[in-house]
Amino acid sequence: MKIVRFNHGRWGFLKGETIHETDAPAGNPTGLHFDLASVRLCAPAAPSKIVCVGRNYLDHIKEMGHMSQELPAEPGIFLKGPNTLADPGEPVPYPSFTRLLHYEGELAVVIESRMQNVPEAEALEHVLGYTCALDITARDKQKTDLQWVRAKSADKFCPLGPWLKTTLDPQDTTLRTYVNGVLRQEAHTSQMIFPVAKILSYISSFMTLEAGDVVLTGTPEGVGELKPGDKVEVAIEGIGSLHTPIV
Ligand code: MG
Repeated sequence: MKIVRFNHGRWGFLKGETIHETDAPAGNPTGLHFDLASVRLCAPAAPSKIVCVGRNYLDHIKEMGHMSQELPAEPGIFLKGPNTLADPGEPVPYPSFTRLLHYEGELAVVIESRMQNVPEAEALEHVLGYTCALDITARDKQKTDLQWVRAKSADKFCPLGPWLKTTLDPQDTTLRTYVNGVLRQEAHTSQMIFPVAKILSYISSFMTLEAGDVVLTGTPEGVGELKPGDKVEVAIEGIGSLHTPIV
């Protein structure tokens, strides 16, 4: 099933090209129907926080020059605020504080029910669905600022969508990122160092994940620079494509 959030926060599920409105993210039908083409899709989550994994694909660790270090024994975690969400297709302004804006295509997970100290074997039972995310990063400020707040958590630095796919094996799909139609990132999610269940269990061991929270699972190799006018597409097989113009 594909769960959609649309028109300033209404929920529904998509069947063909028709949205069947529901009273909650995976709730009961209200009886109202909408044509997909007639609505404005929203980022499919209303999180209290967005929790992200920094280094989860070996090839990306290599390209960032971190191979002198040992492979991470635990997932490297950082946060993006809810202010970073941008809707599918929503233009993201190139901020004036950076000279090096990067794209990072990622598989995102949206939580369905509260997670505290959840074992890895039960972690995926708490997942509402999976979607595409663009972890926009001010790479220059990531290197020079004391923390990553400005580099990772500026307004609209987390486009998300276009909808949640509820049935997906998160370790058996392919992620691709295109910039202006040119393929820049391609990886199978079986290449993750820490699988999604491990990431969720790990986070829940020190931080409560609430319903609606979003978890970004890391980017593969091929990250690169964005310029105003660029059009980014994050495409995940079995989910769909998230389009983001940089303006
Ligand atoms: Mg990232």
